[in-house]
Amino acid sequence: MTLKQLFRNITRDEDTWIAWLKSNGLLAKGMICTCSRIMRPGTFAGIADGKGWRCPEKSCKNFAFMRIGSFFEGAHIPLTELVEFLYFWADNLQTTAFLRKNLWWGEHTITYWKNFLRDLCVEEFLVNPQPIGGPGHIVEIDESKFGHRKYSRGHMLSCQWVFGGIDRETKDTFMIAVQDRSAATLIPLIQSYIIPSSTILF
Ligand SMILES: [Zn+2]
Repeated sequence: MTLKQLFRNITRDEDTWIAWLKSNGLLAKGMICTCSRIMRPGTFAGIADGKGWRCPEKSCKNFAFMRIGSFFEGAHIPLTELVEFLYFWADNLQTTAFLRKNLWWGEHTITYWKNFLRDLCVEEFLVNPQPIGGPGHIVEIDESKFGHRKYSRGHMLSCQWVFGGIDRETKDTFMIAVQDRSAATLIPLIQSYIIPSSTILF
């Protein structure tokens, strides 16, 4: 998707981006009330996103926000800005100057969301590490500490050392949570996750 397609076809107006988020599984397509009735989508003045769900049962009339149960629940930022931010982030348009200019976000918000997405990616890699490198490949290895922030949603490791490597050419990555950074801990991981004949850079 290009930036032009994003602005023309998705974030141009509220109904369009909400339909796009629903069709891509990022917002719920339907909602069941606590009273078991199927809730109806609607437009509501004066609430976040202007959209939500209302129970049709006269004795119930429960209301639910459009973001409930989604990735965006708990975020106090308009959905359109979050969608644009996710696009920019995924396309490596991540400098603070760029994001400030285009989203009008403060530095704190930018840092928070960049860290949040980085840590989500780290968690994803940790779940399923794969061997990387190979003959002629250069693998850079490093240890970092992750997960010292608290997020409104999602499981986060607390102060966890992570050992990882990245193939300079293919950008393939592995990450493993480690208890310590001793040679006894790291050498077996290097042997398991870096294919022999790779050049290893520390
Ligand atoms: Zn209800």
